Amino acid sequence: MKNFLSEKARSLAPYTAGEQPKDKRYIKLNTNENPYPPSPRALAALNTFKGDTLNLYPDPQAEELRKAIALAEGVSPENVFCGNGSDEVLALCFPAFFGEKESACFPAITYSFYEVFARFFSVPVQTVSLKEEFYIDFERLKGIDCRGYFIANPNAPTGAAVPLAEMERFIASVPDRLVIADEAYMDFYGQSCAPLTRKYENLLVVKTFSKSYSLAGMRCGYAVGCPSLIEGLFRMKDCFNSYPLDGICQAVCRAAIEDIAYHKKTVRLVISERVRLQAELRALGFTVPESGANFLFVGRARISGKEIYTRLKEEGVLVRFWDKPFLRDFCRITVGAREQNDVLIEKLKQILS
Ligand SMILES: *Cc1c(COP(=O)(O)O)cnc(C)c1O
Repeated sequence: MKNFLSEKARSLAPYTAGEQPKDKRYIKLNTNENPYPPSPRALAALNTFKGDTLNLYPDPQAEELRKAIALAEGVSPENVFCGNGSDEVLALCFPAFFGEKESACFPAITYSFYEVFARFFSVPVQTVSLKEEFYIDFERLKGIDCRGYFIANPNAPTGAAVPLAEMERFIASVPDRLVIADEAYMDFYGQSCAPLTRKYENLLVVKTFSKSYSLAGMRCGYAVGCPSLIEGLFRMKDCFNSYPLDGICQAVCRAAIEDIAYHKKTVRLVISERVRLQAELRALGFTVPESGANFLFVGRARISGKEIYTRLKEEGVLVRFWDKPFLRDFCRITVGAREQNDVLIEKLKQILS
């Protein structure tokens, strides 16, 4: 049969998301979902959404949601862009700000979707190895001749976080290059660069409702930056999909970001479990770098990441593993609710004995 796939479609290697298995009920610690439910106010917005308006297209500019995000971030709505998950926002950054002769640069170990997007949009990529195993090497990044950088902070999958002052020094040192700070996990660290967007026109901060707001199923992410960057993203959106966010999503996410107290509470719960889990894992002899995220990067001498992953899966606990250089020595484990973490620790003790 004739292969109708374009040359490009055949050449691309798509991103593989963490598994969402249906075969049995796992303790799911593999995709950094939040173990707690979304805000009751978000659920109320869902339940009171007027279904009889679904014959109409949603607001293509997501005005009300952008107002609520702007209020939370201390900026104006013209500084905010929303997309169908922050993955979509990050994807649109490539055609908006990069090109065949305008390369993107990021750490060699980081969110692997950047590389996929770059190939998809024919943007050349330059990468810089981590230093001292786990940390981003800003001195070497600065020396790379590129259009801009993607900096996941905290980084994935190491969890390593960069303090705000260090991010600012980097942003200030590359005024002619765009710095895209992917802050998917920032609420679990608490040093967001978003306020710096008022000061630096070369900074775009990307955030998501998927992790700290417990709304991975809703698909909403956003960018904060100066109006010309935001306008660039709107241009790309309107070349691709005018309505990436449905009305239900807009209403639910708006209610979620307005419920500041609930957000704080669940973030605190996740952080205190992260601290406990990290200590327990270290006590079992695992190497666990400090994490500013809702997951831990876990490795151990004489047992491969694959073995930990496989044995845990047999025991009904799902974690994330990549069979790639460096990463194959580790697993990435999402911080679950207390009882889930207890089961994880129990199973690991069995596996090690
Ligand atoms: C989870 C994640 C995202 C995106 O998540 P969405 O669900 O698409 O908002 C972006 N960047 C990193 C580093 C992530 O881990």
